[in-house]
Parts: sequence; C-alpha cells; structure tokens
Amino acid sequence: MYDLFILGGGVNGTAIARDAAGRGLSVFLAEQNDLASGTSSASTKLIHGGLRYLETYEFRLVREALIEREVLLNAAPHIIWPLRFVLPHHAGLRPRWLIRLGLFLYDHLGGRKILPGTRSINFAKDITGETLKAEFTHGWEYSDCWVQDARLVVLNAIDAREKGAEIRTRTKVKSASRTAQGWDVVLESGEAIQAKILVNAAGPWVSEVLSTIVRQNEAAKVRLVKGSHVVVGRLYDHDRCYIFQNGDGRICFAIPYEGKFTLIGTTDLDYAGEPDRVEISEDEIDYLLKSVSEYFNRPVRRTQVKWSYAGIRPLYDDGATQAQQATREYVLKLEGSAGESPMLSVFGGKITTSRKLAEAVLEKLAPFIPQAKQPWTRAAFLPGGLAYSKSDSYLADMKKRFTFLKPQIVERLYRAYGNRMELILKDARFASDLGKFIGPLSESELQYLIENEWVTSADDVLWRRSKLGLHMKPDEITELQSYFSAKAKPKLKKKVKA
Ligand code: FAD
Repeated sequence: MYDLFILGGGVNGTAIARDAAGRGLSVFLAEQNDLASGTSSASTKLIHGGLRYLETYEFRLVREALIEREVLLNAAPHIIWPLRFVLPHHAGLRPRWLIRLGLFLYDHLGGRKILPGTRSINFAKDITGETLKAEFTHGWEYSDCWVQDARLVVLNAIDAREKGAEIRTRTKVKSASRTAQGWDVVLESGEAIQAKILVNAAGPWVSEVLSTIVRQNEAAKVRLVKGSHVVVGRLYDHDRCYIFQNGDGRICFAIPYEGKFTLIGTTDLDYAGEPDRVEISEDEIDYLLKSVSEYFNRPVRRTQVKWSYAGIRPLYDDGATQAQQATREYVLKLEGSAGESPMLSVFGGKITTSRKLAEAVLEKLAPFIPQAKQPWTRAAFLPGGLAYSKSDSYLADMKKRFTFLKPQIVERLYRAYGNRMELILKDARFASDLGKFIGPLSESELQYLIENEWVTSADDVLWRRSKLGLHMKPDEITELQSYFSAKAKPKLKKKVKA
C-alpha cells in the first residue's frame, strides 16, 4: 500500500513525487510514455513571472512565479539560467506608461536578489536595435530565466527515486477504483498497485483520466489550449531574447536557442483533438513568422524553418472568452466525501510554479497523511545542482580538467547533468576512455542515460534528455537508432524462448 499513486510523469507529477518522497511518503508514479513526453517538453522554456498576466490582474500568480525564478535558479543553475528580454515600444499598441508600470511591478513584486532589473534601451545605440526595423527606436530590457523543461522533469524524477519513490515510465494506467482502504490502480500490464491517495497529474489527459480511468460522470473543468513554436536558423548574434507585441493583444518571443538557432513562439488556440496527436498547423507557422517579421528588418521566411513543435496547455476553464485570457493559475481539486479515499486532480499550472504546486498539493493532502514531514524543496538542490555563484567556476574547472573534449561538449554535459557529469566522465584522460562515440554522444553518456534516466529509445535522447536531434547528422541519428534496436534485441529473443 503506497501513500500516493501519481498518474503522469510531466513536470507536475514528478514535482509532486519528489516533494512527497522527500517528506517520507511512499510514492508510485506511472507515466504512459517517456518522462516529459506530454506538455512538459513543449513549452517556451521560460521560468518567468509572466509580464503579460499582469494585464489580466493575475498578481498572485505573477508574484509567486517571480519568486520561484530565483528559487529554481538556485536549485539547478545548470539547467536554468538568467535571460534578458528586449521589449520594443510599438507606437500603435500599449502606451509607454502602461509598459513602464508593468515593468516596475515586475521588478518589485517578487523579491529579486540575483537577477538585474529593467533598463530603457535606445535602439540607435544598442546592439539589439541592429536587427529591428528603423521605426522601433526605443524599448526596455528586463530579466527572466531559461529552463531546459524536459530536463527539469527528469531531475525531479531522479530526486524522487533517490528518496525512495518508484518511478515507472512506459506504464499506462488502465483503471483506478476506490476500495475500503484506498485505491486499486490497474496498469496496462495487468499489474495492480494499491495506494491510499490517487493524484491525477495527467495534464491534457486530466479529464480523460476522470471519465475513462476513474469513471466519473461529472465533466472536468479543463480548457485545452494549443501552443506551437518554430525553430529557425539563428537570426542575430547577441544573447538576448525579444518579446514582441502583436496587434491581436498577444505577445511573441524570439529566443536564442541551442547556439545555432532562434526559437519563435507561441500561439493560443482552443484544441479539441487527441492530446497525443497535436501538431503545428500551416496557419500557426504563418502567424508566428508574420509576428516576428513585423519587427525584424529582414523578414523571416518558411524556408528558414528547421523544426517545430506543439503542445497543449491543460488550463482550468474559468469561462474566459478568449483562449489567451484563460487563467494560468493552477487549481487543485480534492474529491472524496467523508470516509472515502481521496483523489486530487491538477488543472493548469506552469513549469515555473511546479515546485510550489507540489507544496500546495501536499498541504491539501495533509489531513490524510499526518506522517508527512515538513516542506523541504525551497532550499534544496536538484540532482547535479550546485550554488548559483559557483556554477561558472565549476564549468571553467571542468573545461580545464577534460581538455581532450571540445569545450562545447564539456559545456553541453554541464548544462545537462551539472556536477553529475563527473559520473559520465569519471577519471577519463582520453576520449577513447569514454568508449565509442556516435556524433557527440559517448558510450559512457549513453550508458548513464540508460541506467539513470529511464532512456529506452533514440528519441528520448535526441528530443527530451537533450536537443541533439537538432544538431546530429542523419547518419549519426540512424546509428543511434540502431544502437537502441540492437540493445532491445537480446531481450526480445529471451522472451520468445520463454
Ligand atoms: P504533462 O507534461 O502533459 O504531463 C502529463 C503526463 O501524464 C503526460 O506525460 C502523459 O503521458 C501522462 N499520462 C496521461 N494519461 C496517462 C495514463 N493513463 N497513464 C500514465 N500516464 C498518463 N510554463 C512555463 O512555466 N513557462 C513557459 O515558458 C511555458 N510555455 C508554454 C508554452 C506552451 C505552448 C505550452 C503548451 C505550455 C507552456 N507552459 C509554460 C506551461 C507548462 O508547459 C505546463 O503547465 C506543464 O508542462 C504541464 O505539466 P503537466 O505535468 O501538468 O502535464
């Protein structure tokens, strides 16, 4: 009998698993595909307060998210780092006073200690003006942070496992029914797991879980809102992002991405299809390219698009008329009348607030788990994390120590694994000590991923544990796929014999 059964291995499910396991609870988490294979690898990848949400008066959310920026930066500076955002003033859109007011609040609402505040920019004198049309003469620059979203999920899961949680990927939940003691959860394999409490953290599948797995009649108040991104070749040489205002009241980001690229997003469209079939539409590509081409002095064309992705925001349906205005707050719904086993469903939320959401879940469940220890995640490192102030010097030391690797490879390893990169590089003195290489991936790194990070396929490596899918050559990708199919074969043979 576990204390918690968590359904869903996205950022929310894994953050809850981490927090709960650290409080001494017994936890089982099931994810039907790979960790972060749902919305949590398809975000804009910002740890941000959400400047835009001030317009919809979501002050509580903005304040909480602004505070979380530095909490997370201190927990995992290898996967989260500061970014500066450039916001050009558009004469036909929001007035200057309104933007100044918004940025003033943004600077002061969230107990900022590390991140620098806002400054004004004269584009005639600043490198960020060089790529903009001449009509944009003035703007502002403010701080937020970047996160490798899918890696945050994996780090949560590793921490949860190290604190005793059972994390199962490629494990679909088929049914869940209340018993006298708790829940009887049946997995697709037929295995049954018993737990006192069921946590439904299925993201865009949250209502499907309620209707088909828990068999509840009441319709869930979830609004599925699709958002898409395109990745184009690098559009400019500096390290800052742009936040552009669109004529429809929305905003669009252009963000330096993976060294050689620029990430452009996003859209807000109500979505009624299957969550796992979501993909960018032709109209969305046009919309995104048009939005940024309003500002850049060279239009961005379709031929520049190298990759795209789409995801679904599982928002709480607050009855807003437009998808872009639906609340980004999280809502936790606890069900189960007196004497009945509790079930808690998660609606909405952000990558940024996932740690706080987990704390709120544990607080809500407190009456059912009196043995749970106190909150602990606020000042704790995530696996591989070290103090923000030591992050740069650690990376510099690693570059000096492993001179046989290109500095870019050492940097990539640090940005993925933090100080756990030493578990991959060990005492290696030559590249050959790391085994065979497939493109930039050593055998040693692949072994680490398989043994520690639930990796079972080339796609897990290329698109979620890293974004090497954007960098590796087609023949290297084929070799990586063959590596995994060769690994799978002996197991298959054994099964056939048995
Ligand atoms: P998911 O990540 O979707 O996880 C749910 C998991 O449940 C899935 O992996 C799924 O496979 C699993 N599951 C479902 N059914 C079953 C079953 N029967 N058995 C087992 N497993 C099951 N937030 C930010 O903070 N910053 C941003 O910049 C940002 N940008 C965004 C941009 C876009 C376009 C979108 C769509 C969202 C963005 N967000 C951002 C919001 C953030 O990405 C989401 O709030 C968050 O990822 C939701 O996580 P989740 O764990 O609830 O859902």
